[in-house]
Amino acid sequence: MHIVIVGAGIIGLATAFELRARGAEITLVDPAPGLGASHAAAGMLAPTAETTWGQGALHRLMATSAKEYPAFIDRVEQSTGNRPAYVENSTLVVAAETADMDALLALMKLQASLGFSAERLLGSAARKLEPALATGIAGAIRCAEDQQLDPRSLLRILIDELDRSIVRETAVRLLRQGSRTSGVLTSTGQEIHGDQVLLANGLGALAGAPALPLRPVYGDILRLQGPVGAPLIKHTVRGIVHRQPVYLVPRTDGSLVLGASSREDGQEQVNVGEMHALLDNARRLVPGIVDTTLNEAIVRARPATPDDRPLLGRVDEGLVVSTGYSRHGVLLTPLGARLGTELLLGNPADAQQLTSVSLDRFGAQLANSTPF
Ligand SMILES: Cc1cc2nc3c(=O)[nH]c(=O)nc-3n(C[C@H](O)[C@H](O)[C@H](O)COP(=O)(O)OP(=O)(O)OC[C@H]3O[C@@H](n4cnc5c(N)ncnc54)[C@H](O)[C@@H]3O)c2cc1C
Repeated sequence: MHIVIVGAGIIGLATAFELRARGAEITLVDPAPGLGASHAAAGMLAPTAETTWGQGALHRLMATSAKEYPAFIDRVEQSTGNRPAYVENSTLVVAAETADMDALLALMKLQASLGFSAERLLGSAARKLEPALATGIAGAIRCAEDQQLDPRSLLRILIDELDRSIVRETAVRLLRQGSRTSGVLTSTGQEIHGDQVLLANGLGALAGAPALPLRPVYGDILRLQGPVGAPLIKHTVRGIVHRQPVYLVPRTDGSLVLGASSREDGQEQVNVGEMHALLDNARRLVPGIVDTTLNEAIVRARPATPDDRPLLGRVDEGLVVSTGYSRHGVLLTPLGARLGTELLLGNPADAQQLTSVSLDRFGAQLANSTPF
């Protein structure tokens, strides 16, 4: 079976990897593989720390995918000879001041109600685990099951592995035979036909694609370089500082990813106000970041849905959509790639999970696609 995949972000690439492992022939179409939202992501795999009220269905997906991660990483390593930078370093959620403790305790209550295991720590105990934390922090929660992946390492490995199957062009239109999608037309006029087409194009548009409830939610990210020698922090640190979120994710090369901004203002450049707030809040948690240097400032848009759950489902006999991974697309990659693969190959096993990501849960009129 030949499957044409529009979009070589983390979702398109991982699905291509799984499909190829099951014997399918793949063509990926993307003018800039790996440079969309996946390029900016911090890579927190944090079903426990990122729990929020009213999102039970999302958290079941997150917890399932987190469990699938180690086996997914092993399969990538066995197949490619390269291991993505998946690090089991757990996460500390830290309340900067006493006034932030309410939010921390509410999070812990929610985690317990959902069956996630999280350990409450006094500020002094958190500092024993992570000595770079500020002396005045009010308290913390240790989320032992929350890990991290450097998404760029996985993207690099999969792009190298699938390189000969990637067409570096934009898909401008879906092709149809009768009521069935049969391929894509690219920006150079090339027609690429397949038995199935997968749309994994994030927020990208193309004629004939279904109109989906997606919106861009921008996130500003700073990449900091720590001093040579011992890394500044070992755990991923998520902070609540004056009720504002901030996170610092340590990479194995001593660099740190700093983020948490969330904007819906349509501004496609790094926002200076957000940059200032991120640095100021991060400094209150980990004062040593003032000795780091700036490697990169970058912004990308998360492909967001109204309930933050992905949109994954079949549109017609030849077309499947897998997008809308919102703020958890890196975490949801093993699950999204597996569900997408099963749908495309015609043997979906996970009916409950497919219902929770179905395309029509908002009453979306899929027939009402963007014009050809
Ligand atoms: C700042 C930031 C921080 C984040 N942090 C985390 C995190 O810590 N943990 C986590 O789990 N998630 C995180 N996310 C979310 C995660 O990055 C996304 O959910 C995920 O990357 C979405 O992957 P994707 O493959 O669907 O989209 P993308 O990576 O955007 O890939 C879509 C691809 O489709 C291509 N494309 C679009 N239109 C076309 C077309 N017409 N023809 C051909 N190709 C096309 C694009 O070029 C692009 O390469 C973060 C996101 C952002 C922005």
